Amino acid sequence: MKRITAAALAGAAALFAGVASAQQGVDFSKVEIKTTDLGNKTYMLEGQGGNITVAVGTDGIIMVDSQFAPLHDKIKAAIAKISPLPIKYLINTHYHLDHVGGNAAFQRDGATIVAHDNIRVRLAAGTINANTGNKTPPMEADAIPTDTYLVGPKKVEVGGRVAEVNHVIDAHTDGDSWVYFPDANVLALGDTYSSRTYPNLDWGSGGTIDGMVLALERYLKAANDTTKIVPGHGPLATKANLQEWHDMMVKVRDRVKKLFDEGKSEQEVLAANPLADLDGKWAGPPGAITSSQTFLHNVYNSLRNRD
Ligand SMILES: [Zn+2]
Repeated sequence: MKRITAAALAGAAALFAGVASAQQGVDFSKVEIKTTDLGNKTYMLEGQGGNITVAVGTDGIIMVDSQFAPLHDKIKAAIAKISPLPIKYLINTHYHLDHVGGNAAFQRDGATIVAHDNIRVRLAAGTINANTGNKTPPMEADAIPTDTYLVGPKKVEVGGRVAEVNHVIDAHTDGDSWVYFPDANVLALGDTYSSRTYPNLDWGSGGTIDGMVLALERYLKAANDTTKIVPGHGPLATKANLQEWHDMMVKVRDRVKKLFDEGKSEQEVLAANPLADLDGKWAGPPGAITSSQTFLHNVYNSLRNRD
């Protein structure tokens, strides 16, 4: 765990203009929320942005992530179809706008927002994109998490249901939480796992390739063959899917680290094309935050940025 402060952030940078610009290109009126039943009153919701997990207890609901702000009404309606009970807790897996955009509206509806404390600091301070320099202003007071933790694990409970919230150090960002619902055998991993593509590695906000691999090793220990895994982005996954993605990430780390340790510049690493055999399966289109070039840039800078 690395605690950040608002003062430290003044000189730091973050990385989600890709997300913000993605938001600008989306017609939210056309987005439909798809609900998948994971069993034991636990559900995955997909719309636009990070996947949402919903767990229904006897007196209220726990929700993990909230997508973009304009989707609040649609997400609320989709959850109301599952259960009329109130949303008591909204857990943020990390601070990116495609996961926390609904914070203010859901908090005004009565939910308590739970997060790693670094999210509270980042949302209150505003952020700067490490790759583009684009600034995102501080979020409104209602959007700031009020029930935060530093080390974990932390338990979040509604009637008959428990969410086990854990922190992984410097993975996708420096404030990642992953959530386990033991009675449903569901893991919600935020953007430390993207089941279809390379991840967005937010090195400007403390994300590192080493932290990603360590996080994935923890999840593989926590999962079994019947675990349902909700990734930050991409379709519902199994432990076998997670293992495959872990193995890909280990290859990426080992190859880029070898070049880095040999003293290669970022341009030389990009020119060496070390992910060529992986790109066909995992790379997003050129220019996307999940493209081979951007992913390599982020991995390289996460190595350069090590403490
Ligand atoms: Zn993210």
